[in-house]
Amino acid sequence: MSEADQPVYLNGEYLPLAEASIPVLDRGFLFGDGVYEVIPVYGGKPLRLDDHLARLKRSLGEIRIPPPLTDAEWSSIFSRLISGTGDQYLYLQVTRGAATKRDHAIPAGIAPTVFVMCSPITPMPADGIKAITVEDIRWSRCDIKAITLLANVLLRQDAIDAGAAEAILIRDGKVQEGAASNVFIVSHGAIVTPPKGRTILPGITRDLVLELAREAGQTVEERLFDAEELRNASEIWMTSSIREILPVIELDGQRVSAGNPGPVWQTLNAAYQAFKERHSQSD
Ligand code: PMP
Repeated sequence: MSEADQPVYLNGEYLPLAEASIPVLDRGFLFGDGVYEVIPVYGGKPLRLDDHLARLKRSLGEIRIPPPLTDAEWSSIFSRLISGTGDQYLYLQVTRGAATKRDHAIPAGIAPTVFVMCSPITPMPADGIKAITVEDIRWSRCDIKAITLLANVLLRQDAIDAGAAEAILIRDGKVQEGAASNVFIVSHGAIVTPPKGRTILPGITRDLVLELAREAGQTVEERLFDAEELRNASEIWMTSSIREILPVIELDGQRVSAGNPGPVWQTLNAAYQAFKERHSQSD
């Protein structure tokens, strides 16, 4: 099936992607006024579904959109769109909906736009990526999974223009996260990641990696660190639902340790793959 024929969900209907369209007065189009989720699916089953739906509800609440669907309704849409057992991901987006005129003020009583699609996951290279550090030019509510991603787009493109795959964002001298991922380092033998707060997205993969690290008996620290500690780290990883745990082997043109995925990453990645496997096989 071509991508254009792939079935998607839009406002209560299932239709081919190429036929799904929204009005130009949709506030998602005009203002980036909406939120989204990306949920990985392994063995035909969404991973950490409750956590993703909880984060969605929180994002919606923070931007004052009432939940358009119940958890059961979301689940039934997902079941209809997931096909087969290959690795795939659900993309869902809720915008405030289409108003009758362009006005920043939130209009009363409009129906949100709800869109869901399911796509295959393209496997990431396991030999590691290059990253660059950049100043975090985003807003002050990065904890909301908002579709307003212009800064993230520009920062990711800065990375690509520099021959790298991801940008690591620094705000007030402290490392925050990637343009579309959370960041971990191994520093003085501990696994360190910035704490949750308004300047990072509370990644579902981040939580899972912390859980698996603690289970494996690793020392874990949730604290801020600066660019110097990042540069001196023995390992750097980026995490996200689609990219899983991705080792950074070069930072700003300098090798990270020997320039290979490190031993702590090997351990954690094996635990992550085993977790995925158990999830795929579960009933
Ligand atoms: N931070 C940002 C800015 C992101 O865009 C993402 C992925 N969308 C993440 C972190 C990772 O979140 P998750 O593990 O839930 O995919």
